[in-house]
Amino acid sequence: MPRLALAAMMANAQMPQPVEIGRANEHDVKIQWQDGHESIYPARALRLSCPCAGCLDEVTGAIRIIATNIPQGVHPLKIDLIGRYAISIQWSDGHNTGIYAFDRLRRMCPCCQGCGAGTS
Ligand SMILES: [Zn+2]
Ligand SMILES: [Zn+2]
Repeated sequence: MPRLALAAMMANAQMPQPVEIGRANEHDVKIQWQDGHESIYPARALRLSCPCAGCLDEVTGAIRIIATNIPQGVHPLKIDLIGRYAISIQWSDGHNTGIYAFDRLRRMCPCCQGCGAGTS
C-alpha cells in the first residue's frame, strides 16, 4: 500500500469518537472517548465556548458572547447527536444553535489543556 494512503487512513482513525455522552453531574457534560479518555466539561465554560455564528465571529474568530449575560447556573437541558461528528446542546438560557464538533471538544478537554494531549 502506498505510504500516503496509509497516512490518510491513520489520520482518519485518529478522529476522536465518543462512546458515551452524558452528564458528569447536574450541570456538567461528560464524554467518554473511544480511546478510553474521559472529558468533563463545566457547563458554563462549554456555553461560553459555543461555536455558533451568534457567539463566535466566523471571520475573525472573535468571541461575541458577553460572559456577564450568561447565567452562572446555565446548563444543558438536552444534548442531541448530529450525525457522527458533533453534538448540539439546548441550553437552559434558551440558546441552541451551537454545534460542538467532536474533534473540537476533544481539543477543548479541560484536563488536557496545556499538556498538549488531545491535540492532533
Ligand atoms: Zn452560540
Ligand atoms: Zn483530557
